[in-house]
Amino acid sequence: MNFTHVAAWCGVVYVAFVADIYSRAIVGWAASPAKHTTLVLDALDMALWRRERTGHPVGPGLIHHSDAGSQSVMHRRYCAEGLACLVSCSGRHCSVHSEEQARQVVDALSGRIYTALRDGGLDAEPVLELASSLEEWGMSTPATQELLERPATRLTTADLTRLGESLLRDTNFEPTFALEPRLWATLEHALKVVERDVRARGITGKLRLVTHDWDNGGHAWVEFQGDHHGNGISPITGRDPQTALAAVADAVQETIMELIWRVWPVCATHDLGLHAGWEHGIAIWWCTGNGTHTVAPVGELP
Ligand SMILES: [Zn+2]
Repeated sequence: MNFTHVAAWCGVVYVAFVADIYSRAIVGWAASPAKHTTLVLDALDMALWRRERTGHPVGPGLIHHSDAGSQSVMHRRYCAEGLACLVSCSGRHCSVHSEEQARQVVDALSGRIYTALRDGGLDAEPVLELASSLEEWGMSTPATQELLERPATRLTTADLTRLGESLLRDTNFEPTFALEPRLWATLEHALKVVERDVRARGITGKLRLVTHDWDNGGHAWVEFQGDHHGNGISPITGRDPQTALAAVADAVQETIMELIWRVWPVCATHDLGLHAGWEHGIAIWWCTGNGTHTVAPVGELP
């Protein structure tokens, strides 16, 4: 399967064609003025129909090879037909199968679009690729439809920016620590502030932020004396210093309490465990005793 475009006097025409690798004959083709995902399927249908009509229907022994761009469409279709497939971009059989792998493809393309939107230099390729992948996986949105229906060469930089941003919203994209190191730096700083409260109450032991290979969400975890508990902190928590401070305070509390087996930190007046929260946009420790009262900003426990 090959997919290309040619400039014609009426505009750009996209052409998909299927070649028999042994005879080198072109056995199916389709052309369209827009990059519809159905284009490659039309060419494939034609090839399958022609084989069947000549008395040589295709079976599970047929191996399909496709260049990047059409593979997700082809995979779904070929595997539905029980045919073997081979994808050039990864060199592995049926590589676009599991939901997890689909997620990885979406994450990688979204990351490229995010970085290009931030740093400049966004081109059509990752945007179109993400749109066709999403369409294939049944996640059709106004942005994916617009991208697949408009000729790629007519997309301006402004169009790509607008549509790229829409796709990132459609996929609920959130930057990772690797893409935005400042998010990690904000959490690291928050941990240093919370650590003052830990030491103020006489607790010793190493505190640090870590990530885990098994964690697909790419969260940060507070480790105390080499162990961690509770939920990870999502990277976007690092967008706002006070949000980060409250989240880190909460994570530190959960981890420390789990390991020292007593409540920390405690309100000296009511002997109750404190809670991390916000007051007027500032991260604070508060107590439920006597109604509720604020004990101190995070990092300033007496
Ligand atoms: Zn209290």
